Amino acid sequence: MLTFAAGPSKVYDKLPEYMQDAYEKGILSANHRSAVFMNLYQETETLFREKLHLPDDYKLLFTSSATENWEIITQSVVESAGYHLFSGSFGKKWYDYAKHIEPKTYAHKINPDETIDVSNLEIGADYDLIAITQNETSNATQVRMESISAIANKYPEKIIAVDTTSSMGGIEMNFALADIWYASVQKCFGLPAGLGILLVSPRAISKAEKKGEKGRYNSLNFMLENATQYQTHYTPNVFGIYLLKRVLQDLEEIQHVENKLVARMRKLEDTIANTSKFRMLIQNAEARSTTVLAVEGKEEFISQIKKAAEKEGMQLGGGYGALKPTSFRVANFPAITEAELDKLIQFLKQY
Ligand SMILES: *Cc1c(COP(=O)(O)O)cnc(C)c1O
Repeated sequence: MLTFAAGPSKVYDKLPEYMQDAYEKGILSANHRSAVFMNLYQETETLFREKLHLPDDYKLLFTSSATENWEIITQSVVESAGYHLFSGSFGKKWYDYAKHIEPKTYAHKINPDETIDVSNLEIGADYDLIAITQNETSNATQVRMESISAIANKYPEKIIAVDTTSSMGGIEMNFALADIWYASVQKCFGLPAGLGILLVSPRAISKAEKKGEKGRYNSLNFMLENATQYQTHYTPNVFGIYLLKRVLQDLEEIQHVENKLVARMRKLEDTIANTSKFRMLIQNAEARSTTVLAVEGKEEFISQIKKAAEKEGMQLGGGYGALKPTSFRVANFPAITEAELDKLIQFLKQY
């Protein structure tokens, strides 16, 4: 069954080879204080710079998930409170976790069909961090780099943290615009779940040092102390890190990956526009995601198309939360091949 779910999503076709190599090279038993692991960590970080254009002074950290990153940011970086901008369920969850730690956390809900109105944004001195869900997987919306840039220009003194769980590895991030970027590998990186990625700028590192939070297993300062020697504070998912390294090695430079995804998304959108039973969940093209497509329709048509797709060996992603009965989603992730996407497009054309 070929899955178009937006996470866990289809893994790269080369996974069996990478996995076998990990076993044969003894990676699976490598001690995380050994040179083998330290080299693996360093090589993976270098690949983030080469392939994804991570700036030289940003640090790569490994966590267990994006959810863990939600908690780390408020726990270890926020000193007063975070100002959260979001339009959907993942952004809301991040806000909920943050609010549990810091009750003064603020929720600024955006209409999914609208882009952030930066000129009318008013974020007071009570907030030292701005939280942005760049790619909202639940409703297939995306905040463009231009919006993040405008926010960064307006609030140069605040730390900006960006959730790119379902877009990192698929589109080019202008990392210099924000201090904290994170993801999970089971989305755009086309890998099995169980590894989180956290990227931090020198400013974010200074902020964590200033706050001085320590003592928890995932206190950022503790993680950073180990990371300077390319080690981790606990026994990490070495297998997952190895697979990530291999995926990055075989990945084209990110601007080329992005161009392909943009072209593919255009084909998908055209196909949906030509159906009689379905339409795009998000009408405003400026607010739409590049990596996740959400399509809406009557409940009966949604359940029909999902069943028909399964008969053809394809699993469409379900709608998220309240949108479940009236929508389906399609991951436009790089691990999905052109041939697979074309098969889906041919199938959608019947409607
Ligand atoms: C999937 C997802 C998460 C949660 O990822 P986990 O790896 O399950 O913690 C967070 N944010 C967004 C935008 C997501 O798509």
